[in-house]
Amino acid sequence: MLEVHRTHRAKIRNHSQVAGQLDRHGWSASKLWNVANYHSREVWEETGEIPDHKELKNELKAHPKYKGLHSQSSQRVLEELAEAFNSWYSSDDDRDNPPGYRKENYYDDQGRRVHEEHPRSTVTWKQNGIRHDTKNNRVRLSKGANHKEHPKAWEYILVEYETRPGVTVENLQQVRVVYDNAKDQWELHLVCKDDIETPDAPGNETAGIDLGISNFAAIAYSTEDADLYPGNRLKQDGYYFPKEIANCDDSSGERATRLHHKWSERRTHFFHSLAKHIVERCVEKGVGRINVGDLEGVREDENGESKNWGKHGNLDLHGWAFDRFTSILEYKAKAEGIEVVEVSERDTSKRCCACGKEDKSQRVERGLYVCEKCDAAFNADVNGAENIRLDIDECNSKSAPDLGGDRSTGWLAQPGVYLYDLSSGFQPQEQVVDCKP
Ligand SMILES: [Zn+2]
Repeated sequence: MLEVHRTHRAKIRNHSQVAGQLDRHGWSASKLWNVANYHSREVWEETGEIPDHKELKNELKAHPKYKGLHSQSSQRVLEELAEAFNSWYSSDDDRDNPPGYRKENYYDDQGRRVHEEHPRSTVTWKQNGIRHDTKNNRVRLSKGANHKEHPKAWEYILVEYETRPGVTVENLQQVRVVYDNAKDQWELHLVCKDDIETPDAPGNETAGIDLGISNFAAIAYSTEDADLYPGNRLKQDGYYFPKEIANCDDSSGERATRLHHKWSERRTHFFHSLAKHIVERCVEKGVGRINVGDLEGVREDENGESKNWGKHGNLDLHGWAFDRFTSILEYKAKAEGIEVVEVSERDTSKRCCACGKEDKSQRVERGLYVCEKCDAAFNADVNGAENIRLDIDECNSKSAPDLGGDRSTGWLAQPGVYLYDLSSGFQPQEQVVDCKP
């Protein structure tokens, strides 16, 4: 089962009864936005950093404007503001402005400002603020404390809605009340959770993924194919951004902060593209299960201390980056009916995936794994990936994995190499990399 969210738009049948209340809540959302925006800019001036929505909440939850909405609705306003600051940072366009204040000014015919008004902002109610009456197509939306004139009778705004014919509103997660300026009226967006059946697995083949530093990902398929993703983009960024950031006059200033965000956006984009490419390859090959190494080896060196990959400025990849990639991969694979399983990575680099011989003193040289017993030389990361695919811990035996006798091993030495390019995505590298010495 896969969880998706659908949004149904609905008309408000008792608009004249509730419009005044909705107006007051929409104005409250604008006022809170402005207070939080002002606060964010003050912090920015002092520290060079914009607070995230959690910091905003801690700072503002006692503020009178926070009580203009149900607490979850106020939180949502702060999240929106933090998101707006984020997309401003990561924008490439220098002409973009930081999120502004929500105010509308009115002028007389001499151009003097007569008064200012707050626009009607969208208000979001989350589950604690909603009571849904499915039979009568009604929702009760909790008021902000400031708008509860009478303690008991007026806790809620009771909104009657009408969806398009044939739409049923079930598993309601969120209600957004949106003001339509052209029509001069409010409408409802009802966000519902839907469980959809995931498709059958594309087949019974398996794949193993080894995530690492020299190659971001190495993959071994049971179809006797292997792919390498060197992660060239990540590495180039890992050289470029720290240098640019170091060149900034103010390390916590606007330009440095923007560079940090841009770097992180590019990384996220890379992860999505890579996960998509791998899942497409798995579908082509009929893979039903992907094993991913559990990353202990990446997080800790041999003394059990966590490695600091960013120290030399060459590759800022920490355990969280791998976790983030794995969860993106899991999600995309699931949508195709492919299971992703984390398996222990222990000793996967020390064991020969062809004959099962374990050599604790095995040294990987120039990316090669050389086995003394069977005289094989494999790409070291592909060897790791194949061991992860075979899940040697699951076999739980010191004996050789059952490889079906005269299984060919040439593919382990000659993985396909995919380089990443911004315009064309992942492209196979023309020349075949021969890993034999
Ligand atoms: Zn061997």
